[in-house]
Amino acid sequence: MGLAQPSARQITGLRKGQASRRVCEVVGAIFLATSTLSVSAMTPRVATDIGPIYSLAARVMAGIGVPDLIIRHGASPHAYSLRPSEAAALEEADLVFWVSEGLTPWLKRRLEILASKAQVVELMKADGTVELPYREGTTFANHDDHSGIDDHSAIDPHGWLDPDNGKAWLGVMASELSKIDPSNTDLYFENAAAGTLEISQAVARISKALIAVRGLRFIVFHDAFQYFERRFGISASGSILVGDALAPNPARIIEIRGQVAEMGIGCVFSEPQFNPNLVASVFQDAEISTAVIDSQGIDLALGMALYPQVLESIAQEIIACAGE
Ligand SMILES: [Zn+2]
Repeated sequence: MGLAQPSARQITGLRKGQASRRVCEVVGAIFLATSTLSVSAMTPRVATDIGPIYSLAARVMAGIGVPDLIIRHGASPHAYSLRPSEAAALEEADLVFWVSEGLTPWLKRRLEILASKAQVVELMKADGTVELPYREGTTFANHDDHSGIDDHSAIDPHGWLDPDNGKAWLGVMASELSKIDPSNTDLYFENAAAGTLEISQAVARISKALIAVRGLRFIVFHDAFQYFERRFGISASGSILVGDALAPNPARIIEIRGQVAEMGIGCVFSEPQFNPNLVASVFQDAEISTAVIDSQGIDLALGMALYPQVLESIAQEIIACAGE
């Protein structure tokens, strides 16, 4: 009364409209569910060995997925036992990015056994990678400290410390990910390009900052930093250990203390995995500055920003140790 009753035709029309809206919602929900399902089903499972490699992979996968890290962030990669969850990550991986057999000789066999269904990419062997042989005749070289690396032509595996390698590997990762997940090809390559730009910006800041310490005489704990040194125009006078010795040798550090002072070394760098307190206490008496530099950024948050931060934090420690 008062309001006109809708005609049967209008009612039918209304019902049809509601019904078709409902159908749309249902279809939409199914479509959404299906596409969510297919994205998660299709997202490649990616395993990485150390923090900086995790960071590069996370950069390329941003918005798509997150890689797994199989060597605990903070452990020395040169000798390590996988935990069950880390072994499981290898078993489930579609893709594995690792630095090289030189860095983690123990991992090669584990990959063969555990990651048999994965595409395994040894980054130091990837196209466009700068490789440097281990340095010979480092000032404090002592064959007793050699950890089974007797081949002087062996490649120094710490190649991620060259930012050009970091950039090259972003491209390698984008192309490997695209092969197994072609629907996200554009995003992988856009991410790699953004990551490359971020590395370039960090390199520009580091290059400018390190001008102040050109000519600094310093030694490192193990010979892990030549990729960084070469790219930024600085050079260690030597290393306490040669190559990748696994344990610090207190007697050896005390033995070279006098030599270091005579040579006018201003700075001795230790590393978090290699008893930095020992180095600090031994050189305290010799009035030589010590600082901790870290090739993996173990104090930095594990994420896609870590890679350029590792390079910047090495630069900051060198500058601080030089008193600039
Ligand atoms: Zn090392």
